[in-house]
Amino acid sequence: MSQKFAAVKGMNDLLPPQIETWQFLERTARELFGTWGYSEVRTPILEDTGLFVRSVGEVTDIVSKEMYTFTDKGDRSVTMRPENTAPAVRAYIEHGFAQQPVTRWYYLGPMFRYERMKTGRYRQFYQLGAEAYGSQDASQDVENIALAWHFLKAVGVQHVTLHLNSLGDAADRPKYLEALKAHFAPHLATFSDAAKDTFERNTMRLLDTKEEALKPLIESAPRVGDFLGEAAAKHFDEVKALLTTLGIPFVIDPKLVRGLDYYTRTTFEFIYEPPGGDNALGTAGTVCGGGRYDNLVKELGGPEKPAVGFAMGLDRLVLLLESLGKRPERRPLLFLATMDGELKAHAVKLVTELRTQGLFVDFDPRGGKIKRQVERASTLKARYFGVYGEQEHQSRTLKLKAMDLPDGDPNKEVQVGLDTLADWLRAR
Ligand code: ATP
Ligand code: MG
Repeated sequence: MSQKFAAVKGMNDLLPPQIETWQFLERTARELFGTWGYSEVRTPILEDTGLFVRSVGEVTDIVSKEMYTFTDKGDRSVTMRPENTAPAVRAYIEHGFAQQPVTRWYYLGPMFRYERMKTGRYRQFYQLGAEAYGSQDASQDVENIALAWHFLKAVGVQHVTLHLNSLGDAADRPKYLEALKAHFAPHLATFSDAAKDTFERNTMRLLDTKEEALKPLIESAPRVGDFLGEAAAKHFDEVKALLTTLGIPFVIDPKLVRGLDYYTRTTFEFIYEPPGGDNALGTAGTVCGGGRYDNLVKELGGPEKPAVGFAMGLDRLVLLLESLGKRPERRPLLFLATMDGELKAHAVKLVTELRTQGLFVDFDPRGGKIKRQVERASTLKARYFGVYGEQEHQSRTLKLKAMDLPDGDPNKEVQVGLDTLADWLRAR
């Protein structure tokens, strides 16, 4: 008895042809991030559960309801990483990088959150992130933001707006929390149980809740920007000035506190805001989120090291690029039809030689009628089609036909010698 299976809910197969868009984003990221001095790190999928509880924060959506946590066979509580900042910091401390003055890392891989699913919100999703450790200078914040900005530009995403805020330093927080509490307290009776809990345990998180009923109160809440200490305020001014110098536009968003506990000073998001509101991402418009986290390295047992970083949601970028029709095409340059019998080995040898020279050449291993092989070539959108027959074998020349495609070669049929075939194809 056979049995059919489907992928687990919220976890997607990434398949051709959309995989071309994924690979394009990944290629561009590796190239660009390397140029900006960021090196790749790959941390494990499973981490000690405590790492996320301690860093992301107990009263966040992620830790309170979204984590894939289980006990392994050795009786340890492990969690499938919901984000990569804490694991990167863990590795940074564990392997002695925290002893170096400046370290810049990037990561790219799957994250896991048990979420309610909608467009652009999955349970296994992919993040591309960049973290810079070791400097509190505004130029480090801005470099990190500029990297995200230039990446979005490089891949052709338009209509993203940089939203910017500062949460101040840990020492600025108590006064602000006091003001926030005073603002929300009179309305507590109307709160949901979850919101009451957030109020008690981590009041600032209320600004990040998605409960509709709270929206007006959040709107009128005191703004963290009015409670910045002198150092944090100066730092924020420097960040804004340098962004302006670099020509990166931004809007100040006083409610931007972000969904994780470790942020201090700068926080930012890039949000997709197309003109006319025709939004391929629905409510999942945030393509990137990040900020400064000056205390996290210390809190996780490392030395005093300020840091700043972002995480970009690749699933959402793929959705966007696909909706804009920006998928890169991968088509064979040449499709070589084969004859049955002895000649087939010669044809396969030619295909293999061309492939080892880096040329995308294809054939149909089933062989068969030439008409069917032409159909196969046309399904694959091959640019040229040739048959490897007796005559071609003897004369060591191929007759190549430009396939009937919009960008097909106007000089329809050409004779090319086998010795010069690779060069000829490379020149197309
Ligand atoms: P949201 O407020 O939308 O839940 P978040 O604050 O939880 O976002 P972050 O933890 O900051 O998101 O993650 C950074 C980015 O990763 C997001 O801006 C988004 O692009 C992407 N991302 C987060 N969660 C998901 C998900 N479940 N599915 C797809 N992409 C996601
Ligand atoms: Mg979330």
